[in-house]
Amino acid sequence: MGETNHGPVRLIVFGRQGAGKGTQAARLSERFGIPHISTGDMLREAVREGTDFGKQAKEYMDAGQLLPDDVMLGLVSERLARPDTERGWLLDGFPRTAGQAADLQRLVPEGGITAAINLEVPEDVVVERISSRRVCTECGTIYSTNDESARSGTCEKCGGEVVQRDDDTEEAVRERLATYNEQTAPLLDHFDAQGLLATVDGVGDPDDVASRVNVALDPSLPHPQ
Ligand code: ADP
Repeated sequence: MGETNHGPVRLIVFGRQGAGKGTQAARLSERFGIPHISTGDMLREAVREGTDFGKQAKEYMDAGQLLPDDVMLGLVSERLARPDTERGWLLDGFPRTAGQAADLQRLVPEGGITAAINLEVPEDVVVERISSRRVCTECGTIYSTNDESARSGTCEKCGGEVVQRDDDTEEAVRERLATYNEQTAPLLDHFDAQGLLATVDGVGDPDDVASRVNVALDPSLPHPQ
């Protein structure tokens, strides 16, 4: 059960591709009872639905390129306006550029961000992780090639199809890692300067990483009401 006896919890999870953002974000979302808002998952849903927007998004995504900031602002501002965000939210995959960070600041009340978590994993480790990453096309659960759901191609949670992401090719991954270093990593200083950044070692078992995240977050959490 989520911890609900507190004010809104608004979290941002940073980390390069394959750092485990999705896995840790899902746990935090459950812990605090707040929606896990993954811009990548939202875009992949649009691609699956085959809308015009989804078709355009797919071109950027398969090339490992970012969608324009104004498009992302539209998507995120609409999502953050939904009623389930009243007790907070967790952003995974946004902001990714200086423009997006400025947009977010405008969307959130002054002092409204609780913490930004930076999952630190070296580049050689993430390249290895991404090449063995598989994902359920229905519920988004992430598996590794060692997991039974990846081997059978059927998600043990929802029965959906488990596949390799179209943008997890070596070329697209290299492009995304370069973009992360150039455009997203500099944002960490911006959140650090506001005293919001908690950097956590993201190497190792997901349960161990989750414990580190919880320890790092503790001082940032709002006091019970
Ligand atoms: P990864 O972290 O592995 O790049 P995501 O699932 O977060 O994966 O994103 C997949 C793709 O979706 C990105 O490569 C990009 O094309 C697009 N995308 C997701 N979030 C954003 C964003 N905030 N700004 C621009 N493009 C985005």
